[in-house]
Amino acid sequence: MAEVLVFVDHVDGAVRKPTLELLTLARRIGDPVAVVLGGGAGVAAGVLAEHGAVRVLAADAPEFAEFLVVPKVDALQAAVEVVSPVAVLLPSSAENKEIAARLAVRIGSGIITDATDLEAGEEGVVATQSAFAASFTTKSRVSRGAAVVTVKPNSAPVEAAPAAGVVEELVVVFSALARGTKVLSRTPRESTGRPELTEAAIVVSGGRGVNGAENFRVIEALADSLGAAVGASRAAVDAGWYPHTNQVGQTGKSVSPQLYIASGISGAIQHRAGMQTSKTIVAINKDAEAPIFDLVDYGVVGDLFNVVPQLTDEVTAR
Ligand code: FAD
Repeated sequence: MAEVLVFVDHVDGAVRKPTLELLTLARRIGDPVAVVLGGGAGVAAGVLAEHGAVRVLAADAPEFAEFLVVPKVDALQAAVEVVSPVAVLLPSSAENKEIAARLAVRIGSGIITDATDLEAGEEGVVATQSAFAASFTTKSRVSRGAAVVTVKPNSAPVEAAPAAGVVEELVVVFSALARGTKVLSRTPRESTGRPELTEAAIVVSGGRGVNGAENFRVIEALADSLGAAVGASRAAVDAGWYPHTNQVGQTGKSVSPQLYIASGISGAIQHRAGMQTSKTIVAINKDAEAPIFDLVDYGVVGDLFNVVPQLTDEVTAR
């Protein structure tokens, strides 16, 4: 059976959920082979095997931590040479898109970013994407070589599928470019205790209708009752009410949660571009004509300062 490389996103061997989702998708098109870079491969291997990895290629070197993306591209290129996969899958993130693009150039193939689904086609792997601010759903395939595809978090369920998960050492010869750009320092963001926006199963977002930074507490309270991440429209971010790291949309982050709750957001096309692939969309807006209601599964016409606290109380009471 064809093999599919899955680039593992992990912290000291703790595998993050988007990678487990990739294993689900990889199993649809072949046998998943996981690539773990840095320390913790032994820890990661168990989880990867439980979710379908037939092989785990592991490489550890200071270059992976000290330098930016090129060492990882070198490692993935080495993995492609070992495995000859039909596809290389990476969780979508700014860094992984750069790695994917560089890898595609190196191996003479093509890249598809922010896929939301994958299937095995007669002429190769077919990826589904949402295009032009989510106005269209497109299906694409890379016409030569192994398709390099970044996949949006929350695009597939995490499924247990025990496999061998045989750990093998991946020998990486670093290119001259690998040491070109060095990481000088890392400053971890202060933790809010909430899930990462792009990975969260539920996102509660606020817009201009929230009308002030302090009022975002109403949005945060609902988010916390649901174990959700908090998002914001650009209008709310530009007003200084919420950080840009939480902006959803064309010039913010792209999210695809199971549930997206938009409060006081009109539904401009640039906002939709970042959330329209959410599985269930709920909007709370006092204007019944707001365009957001065109795409929702459930809409509440009302003042968010009445509706959202009631929703929070109801969720908390359950
Ligand atoms: P508004 O459009 O002003 O809507 C506010 C809504 O709140 C209204 O529908 C109103 O009825 C409702 N409301 C008001 N008070 C209440 C209340 N008490 N209770 C309930 N409802 C209430 N936007 C993004 O979001 N993300 C992006 O990444 C992004 N990128 C952009 C890139 C470009 C190049 C451009 C040109 C624009 C971009 N925008 C982006 C901006 C976008 O066009 C809109 O201006 C923005 O999304 C509007 O934000 P909003 O819906 O919060 O505000």
